[in-house]
Amino acid sequence: MTPAEPTPLVIAVDGPAAVGKGTLARRLAGHYGLRHLDTGSLYRATALRVLRSGGDPAGEAEAAAAAKGITDDDLGDPALRDEDVGQAASVVATHGAVRRALLGYQRGFAARPPGAVLDGRDIGTVVCPDAQVKFYLEATAEVRARRRLCELRSRGVESIESRVLDEIIARDARDRRRSAAPMKPATDACRIDTSALGPDEVFVHAVAIVDARLSST
Ligand code: C5P
Repeated sequence: MTPAEPTPLVIAVDGPAAVGKGTLARRLAGHYGLRHLDTGSLYRATALRVLRSGGDPAGEAEAAAAAKGITDDDLGDPALRDEDVGQAASVVATHGAVRRALLGYQRGFAARPPGAVLDGRDIGTVVCPDAQVKFYLEATAEVRARRRLCELRSRGVESIESRVLDEIIARDARDRRRSAAPMKPATDACRIDTSALGPDEVFVHAVAIVDARLSST
């Protein structure tokens, strides 16, 4: 009899815009030899397809058709990082049909050995409710706006802090209030407030939590 494949290790990293999910998820994936999926890129790629075809992100059928056509090739487009694409992504993400269309891709990614770190808004609650470790990162909107501003400047994009803050607040509100898979911490998520922490401190803290969880199973 061949030995059973070990269960893939799945780590969920959820939280609002510009909280540091991507940085933490990438580092955890490298540390534990797992693959990483930025699930926001799926919603951004859907939004970009809709915008490029001259469509309206608020239209559910059109956005769902775009979501069904997403392939790995869509996920590397530099335009995905543009702020207007992020806003449109949070509009297409309100549609249940879009979320359903993207679910299989995310679950398939998580299920492939040796496992994966997925970051997003609903990973611990909907996409991978059985993830072995779940994080929910938080930080004030002001701190997140400053981080986003730095990230934009590092890419040569000039922006005004108050505008970035307004956009973050608008996106948070849409992500929290939508009825389909709203952004919220899973009941069993480890919540980390990153407002006063640097990326290294968040990473060290998270690794201690994952190691403790793995050694107890
Ligand atoms: O994380 P990122 O800012 O790239 O996500 C863009 C948008 O995609 C979010 O504002 C959110 O509306 C949506 N999203 C989501 N569920 C996820 C990941 C992202 O609804 N798991």
